[in-house]
Amino acid sequence: MRITLDPGHGQFGNPGVLPGYYEGTRVYMLAQLLKRELECYEDTEVIITRKRIEDNPSLANRGGEAAKNGSVLFISLHSNAASNPAAHGVSVFRSIKRPDSEHLGRLLGAAVVDTMKKHTDITYLRGVMTRTESFDGQIQDYYGVIRSSVKSESVRYSYIIEHGFHTNLTECGYMFSDEALQQIAEAEAEVIAAYFNLKKKDGQMCDYIEYVVQPGDTLTSIARKYGTTWRVLAEYNKLQNPDLIIDGQIIKIPLSTEINTGDVVRIKEDKDTYYPGGNPFPKWVKDYDYVVGKTADSRGEPVYRGGDKCVLLGSKINRKTGAHGSSINSWASMEYIEKIRAEKI
Ligand SMILES: [Zn+2]
Repeated sequence: MRITLDPGHGQFGNPGVLPGYYEGTRVYMLAQLLKRELECYEDTEVIITRKRIEDNPSLANRGGEAAKNGSVLFISLHSNAASNPAAHGVSVFRSIKRPDSEHLGRLLGAAVVDTMKKHTDITYLRGVMTRTESFDGQIQDYYGVIRSSVKSESVRYSYIIEHGFHTNLTECGYMFSDEALQQIAEAEAEVIAAYFNLKKKDGQMCDYIEYVVQPGDTLTSIARKYGTTWRVLAEYNKLQNPDLIIDGQIIKIPLSTEINTGDVVRIKEDKDTYYPGGNPFPKWVKDYDYVVGKTADSRGEPVYRGGDKCVLLGSKINRKTGAHGSSINSWASMEYIEKIRAEKI
């Protein structure tokens, strides 16, 4: 299924109450994160209306993009503004032409509120609303992005989500953190996946995250943020000139494939023994995933078997139900297993 995300405004559109906050920059980053979360699901393609951070297409072209590309869902991402600095809360607007979209709008609004509220205390759902105007005697959507998106029948769901107020110190402070945007992206993606019954790509995890270059960033400063080196990033992104990165450029940060205690692993298809020269697997062993119990012995020394560094396979996990079973307590070569996901603690 196709989804169009529309980060509102341009790069320096709508400064917030905190210096350096621009709605147009923050929601652009949110769109990138949400795209990554959504594309972890099968058959999901996400198009962002602003190809580059500095792009600022017309309202008609933003909604028009969704109408043109056959999206089912269109979301315009914003943070709100008011002259009263006390104004706060999350608003969702839906299309008057799509009465069936009320429910998903409510789920999305509630998910954003739940996420923000853990950190801001004050955030609440102002409502899932329509805003209309009369044109040539016809009632139509007031907001241009919504109006232009629902010109196509394919767009069954069209929303504007206002993620709190950037004129409110507390909510602006929350939206200013990269972690907050990631939390919101995860919450929104979960709601969308559940609503449309999307399946997580089997046994695959996103092996990188996308970082949007901000003014003042260097490859070294980005690398430091993610505990890697500029060399690794330059190579991974195939950068011709590592000294030349520009605002709004996307740098892929490879996620570690290192295996740690607590990670969930799977035995590689082409392996028949636990480690080189070790015991053959009993038939059922490969049907399960495993939680890594240990990566070293009791003295903290790595364990070698058959010349390979090994980890202890702990409790087995039923791949269909996710249920944990008893531990199998077998050492297996790190080379023979692959990481499925880092277990959340
Ligand atoms: Zn806005």
